[in-house]
Amino acid sequence: MLLDLAAQAAALPDLSGGGAPSEIILRDEGSRVELWFSAGPPVILAADALRGACRCAWCTKAKVQGEFPGAFSGLSIEQIKPIGGYAVNLHFSDGHDRGVFPWSYLRQLAEPGN
Ligand SMILES: [Zn+2]
Repeated sequence: MLLDLAAQAAALPDLSGGGAPSEIILRDEGSRVELWFSAGPPVILAADALRGACRCAWCTKAKVQGEFPGAFSGLSIEQIKPIGGYAVNLHFSDGHDRGVFPWSYLRQLAEPGN
């Protein structure tokens, strides 16, 4: 039996989260970021929530060791750098700039309960 792999792939759900946003806007002096994707409402995320959700090696280690700060109030995003069309690197006002945030992760963070 010959499998039609292209048809199977086309039938799979889009796991990329709809691709890259068409627009990324920093609001309120960097205290939140707004991402517009091709469809649907914008994804809006607070800088302090993003800082707390950083998954870089340093933050992951600090979380495992129980040394990660519980809150980042007053924090802002100072710079956004695209990474390979699939993610952004965020520079926070506390000097932290190691986090890589893929589009799918940003969409996930904006879902209710996160
Ligand atoms: Zn980090």
